[in-house]
Amino acid sequence: MNTLNADLHCHSVVSDGTLTPEELAQRAKAQGVTLWSLTDHDEIGGQARAATAAAACGLDYLSGVEISVSFLHQTVHIVGLGFDVDNAALTEGLQQTRGGRSQRAKEMATDLARVSIQGAFEGALKYAGNPNLISRTHFARYLVETGVCKDTYEVFRKYLTEGKPGFVEHRWANLKDAVRWITQAGGMAVIAHPARYKFSANEELALFTEFKGHGGMGVEVITGSHSNAESANYAATALEFGLAASRGSDFHSPEESRTELGALPDLPAQLTPVWALLANRIQRATAPITH
Ligand code: AMP
Ligand code: MN
Ligand code: MN
Ligand code: MN
Repeated sequence: MNTLNADLHCHSVVSDGTLTPEELAQRAKAQGVTLWSLTDHDEIGGQARAATAAAACGLDYLSGVEISVSFLHQTVHIVGLGFDVDNAALTEGLQQTRGGRSQRAKEMATDLARVSIQGAFEGALKYAGNPNLISRTHFARYLVETGVCKDTYEVFRKYLTEGKPGFVEHRWANLKDAVRWITQAGGMAVIAHPARYKFSANEELALFTEFKGHGGMGVEVITGSHSNAESANYAATALEFGLAASRGSDFHSPEESRTELGALPDLPAQLTPVWALLANRIQRATAPITH
């Protein structure tokens, strides 16, 4: 069960990835993934296409999303898995969360103009497959295209992050709301890539405690952005908090992503995988064998 090649975190052109849901399904299949989820930022507009493409190429599928949350002056990402994609409160909550991205993008471009980078709003928008979901990734692509930086990693070291040109503070969803939208739609809320946040030990304790208190049930232990030591650390956190463990590459693009779909270590054996608790939410490509 823990050795399943599940990839429950990636992005398509519906948010800030460069592949379509169909291309991702085929790529996941080719990489040996057997259970897949597309988790676009703040948007479930790609879910029907992803589920259809998964079925067509023989992949089991869980519905997915990655919700942007503001918690203690940082942005935290909460992945939702296995929810009902037609749920009205979730749909409405995501729409609210997406709102304000265009205004933020204009302010980002104004701040970049301060350091003589012109045309960034239009430049970023050109990369946004979904104009309602303009993100920092699209700005990063524009800064690479115009030769300001050599790759998107350099962009996020020099621009678009706190204290650097192009960064604009933004208020996303509340933790409580995001967890409830997911769980009340029948899904499971999962803390995404926990090692990426810059919380103190006390702040991190508050995040995990409040997340659990609101009904959150999982944490990404194996992700493309964790070192082995970070995975081991959050395996211990999962056990300590009684959380199920998830596994996902956070793949965005063949050109930009360091971690390929499905190319991740197995979940540690002592953890409960999220897919064990979501068995009845998995859309099976083939009927399970019953005796
Ligand atoms: P946004 O939701 O507009 O704030 O954009 C966040 C996205 O930017 C993330 O989902 C990543 O795809 C990308 N991103 C943020 N920080 C980094 C980073 N340090 N390195 C690479 N990509 C990053
Ligand atoms: Mn992203
Ligand atoms: Mn994320
Ligand atoms: Mn992601």
